[in-house]
Parts: sequence; C-alpha cells; structure tokens
Amino acid sequence: MRLSQYYVPTLREDPAEADVISHKLLLRAGMIRKLTSGLYSFLPHGFRALNKICAIVRREMDAADCQEVLLPFVQPASLWQETGRWEVYGSELLRLKDRHQRDYCLGPTHEEVITDLVRDEIRSYRQLPVNLYQIQTKFRDEVRPRFGLMRCREFIMKDAYSFDRDENENEESYRTMQRAYERVFSGLGLSFCAVEADSGPIGGSQSHEFMVLAETGEDSLVLCSGCGYAANLEKAEVSPPQTGNAETNCPDPELIQTPGMHTVADVAAYLQIPHSRVLKTLLYKADDASVAALVPGDREINETKLANLLGASELELAHAEAVRSWSGAEVGFSGPLGLSVDRILADHTLLRESDWVCGANQDDAHYRHVRLDRDASVEQYADISTIREEDACPKCNSGLTLHKGIEVGHVFKLGTKYSSAMNATYLDAEGRERLMIMGSYGIGVTRLLAAAIEQNHDQDGCFFPPPIAPFEVELVHLAPQDETLAAAGETLRSAMEGIGADVLLDDRDERAGVKFKDADLLGSPMQVIVGKKGFEQGMVEVKDRKSGERTSLSLDRFSSEFSAWRNRVWHETWRLES
Ligand SMILES: [Zn+2]
Repeated sequence: MRLSQYYVPTLREDPAEADVISHKLLLRAGMIRKLTSGLYSFLPHGFRALNKICAIVRREMDAADCQEVLLPFVQPASLWQETGRWEVYGSELLRLKDRHQRDYCLGPTHEEVITDLVRDEIRSYRQLPVNLYQIQTKFRDEVRPRFGLMRCREFIMKDAYSFDRDENENEESYRTMQRAYERVFSGLGLSFCAVEADSGPIGGSQSHEFMVLAETGEDSLVLCSGCGYAANLEKAEVSPPQTGNAETNCPDPELIQTPGMHTVADVAAYLQIPHSRVLKTLLYKADDASVAALVPGDREINETKLANLLGASELELAHAEAVRSWSGAEVGFSGPLGLSVDRILADHTLLRESDWVCGANQDDAHYRHVRLDRDASVEQYADISTIREEDACPKCNSGLTLHKGIEVGHVFKLGTKYSSAMNATYLDAEGRERLMIMGSYGIGVTRLLAAAIEQNHDQDGCFFPPPIAPFEVELVHLAPQDETLAAAGETLRSAMEGIGADVLLDDRDERAGVKFKDADLLGSPMQVIVGKKGFEQGMVEVKDRKSGERTSLSLDRFSSEFSAWRNRVWHETWRLES
C-alpha cells in the first residue's frame, strides 16, 4: 500500500473527546471514527489490525476443534423469556419490536440462541461433545460508553459454547479452551495473564479471566512469583492468620467518648493506635436480611466475597436510616456489641487479635477492650476482605505483586443453567434423557485492539506487535521523486513482501520530519528508511520501533539481512515465535 493513496486521516493533536491513550491513538492514527456515543466505524488502518486479530483467534479456535458458525444478531424475546433473562438482564439489553409488534433484542451474548440451535439438532450421546464459535457483533446498551473501544456499545466478540455429556468431558473442554486462549494471546504478541475470577451472575462453578497487563488497565490482579498463583482482586484469597494472638487478659469493654470521630483514621489517631486495631463494622442489606460485616480497620471489605458467602443476589450498604434503626447510632459508630441485625459475619484475619476498638452503637462513642469471642455473637469467620500487596500468597506464602490489567477474555463453566432452562437434553448410551453440560468462552476482539495499544505505546504513538500490526513494515522513503531511488524502494518493497511482511510505503512528497512522525504514529513495529545518502553508501537504515534500536543493512544483501533482522525483532523484542 502507498501512503499517498491510503485512506488514513491522521490527526496532529490529541482529540478532546478521548481520555485514555488507546482512544487517542486510535483516533490520531486514523484507525477509527466515532459515529455516535459508543458506536465506532473502523477505517482501513484499524480494520486491517482487527482482521489480523480475528485470523489468529480463528486459527487457534479451529486448532482446538471448535467449529465456526454465524448466529443472528437480532434475537427473539421468546428465547430470553425461556431463561428468564428477558426480565433480569436490565437496561443493557436493547429491546425492539418488528412491524408485527413482536419483541426482539440486539444480542449482547448468545447463550439462548446457541442452546436453541443445539437442542433442536442433537438427540444422542454420539453427537456430543460439540464446541461452536462465532466472531460477531454484540450490542450492550452501556449507561456511559467511554474509553473508546474499551467500553463501547457495539463491539465484536468471539464467543464459543461447548456442550458436553458430563462433568469430566466439560472439564476437558474447559482446559482445551484455556490452552487455546493462551495460544491466542501469546500469538497476538501481548503480555497477558490468566487469573482465577468470580463467576458472577452468569453462575457456574469455575471461571478464569485473561488480562492484558497494562498500567492503564481498569482491573487489578495479584501475581505470585513463587508458585504462579494469579487471581483478580475480587477473587484472590486472603489466608487466615498463621497464629492467633489470644490475649487472655483482655480487660472488660470500656465505653469511651469519641465525639465526631466517624472514621477508623479519626479513632486511631485519637487513641494513638494503628488502624489495624480498630474494628470496621459495615452494615448491609442482603436481599431481605440485615447483615453486619466486620473487617480490621486497615483492610477493605470485599463485597463480591461477602455476597457469595451470603448467597445474596443483591447486596447494598445500608442507608443512614437503616443504620440508625439497627444500631441506634449514626453512621460511623456501629459495632458488633448489642447490634440488632440478622447476621454478623467477620473477616477471618480478625482472629489474629483479641483486643479491639469498635463503635459502641451510640452517637459519639466507641468501646475499647472488645474480645469478639467473649463480647459479640459472630456467626462465622470467613474470607471477606480484599487482598493487599503486603499479604502472603494463599497457596505458597511467598510475596505477591499487584498489577493492572485489561480483561480481554473470560471462560466459564456454565453447568446446566441454560440447558435445564431450555430443556437441552440428549439420550445417553442406556437411553436415559440427560441435560447437556455447557461452557462459554469469550474474547473481546475490538477491545483487544485497544488493549494492544494500552500495552504498547510511547509519547509518539503506538507500536503494534508484528502479528497484528496493520502493516508490519513502514518503508519511509525520503526521496520518492528521485527515479533511481523510487525504483530502489520498489525493489526493497517486493523483497520484504516476498518473505511475508506487508509493507506500507510512504511515497508522499513530504519533509523527512513529517514522515518520521507519521511512521511512529501509524504503529508499524519495523521501519525501513530509504534516503539518498545511505543509498550512495550501499546501505539502508532500519528501526525497531519498540526498542528504538537502529541498524544499517546492506543493499546488496538486503533480503537475507532484512530477514535476519526481522526474526530478531519478532523473537527478541516481542518474544514471539514466528
Ligand atoms: Zn504462591
């Protein structure tokens, strides 16, 4: 492709509408344009990268014996009513009517449609297992679409669904997909991590998220260098204390006046004790029950863990009036002694101490010298706080590190949630009717494009991993008007294309400075620079965009030297297997 002919409207300045780097660079490099809130058009430069991502996803899905299908984007309400999701999915589901007043939705996901397809066709155990995938448009009506391709309303996803005869077969399908995902993300040239995740409202017994590691990621995860344990923050287990510190001589609780001291920090400062000695009491409404959750003052409650422990589908912090009626005091003075709630649950890290300061359930007062086992009626001690970097690995006790990531893939075991709601059954070898066991496996294809940029950019632009770059090489031609040099450029271009690299040739009549700036912005991982001076010396300069390293290759032996240099960029800079 010649840059002079290429439909790639670049921008010199950061667009005001963009607040994350991938959004800025996607717009600046002429890859996408916004149609309206949360809807984007892909221009040729963006679409080339997207197609390369799809090709790698497709290659690995096919290698894992997944078969590609294409399901309708518009889905009838009747299927969603069968699973009950028509009512519970909420406003992210865009509902519409056709001319006959029949209800439909735009597909945000395809569990219902695929289950309908399979239940109508599969009768016998001999037809299982089967795993079907598609690469297709989804629509989720986000309240606040933002961050460009990171959180848009219409996007492209690869979604796969497995149907198995039993749990063992389902386990195998799940592991096969996990391995396929690892090959997808390493094949894309991204640095990623698979973490244990909470299954959330989709249900099912097990789930993993695949995160692209990037400082700017919205998700947090912990990694253990000792054993490789990896989990997202919602899920990561916090170990109970190794030894309890039972101070048997804890005196009786003593009421102390703490006027206006609503926070752990206020109370700790006043009593000159560490935050870790103050008990935080959080009051929740969990479905219809009133619940108190206790955590040490230096830890954060983990509402996902708490909701799972309670088996609650809705969990929300109690409003001020509820706090007043359950505790008899305003927010900030609740404690476990004499509290009128249905259940009191405590974080198991509290077992390390036995002498606490906590709210007294009266305004402007706390208790000190509280022993939970003696003075409060705690129903259960469990893991309900969020892990911190200073905590030990729950598996091997080594140190942990905290990282930021962008979720780009998620695999779930669905069990029989959809097959039982939609009656997807088969006859086993004995002729008995049984429910199919399902799994679902997603990859956010458009989000991957944004994630690749979040992970790989500098102040001048992005640099794509070679397998997904719109063009692997940009040939920056500094004298395209010079006939001899123009011909030499063509020779180099066909040599590079001959060994499988696609080339964007900057043949514009522009200053060198403009060309270098644009090459950095457009994101090819390799630049080949043709100029008069080098040409006269029989040399051509090349630049590895990611490392910034420049070298000269000989014009005479260009093909073999370029090929060797390109291999180095793949293997050493990007840690890719070619
Ligand atoms: Zn570990």
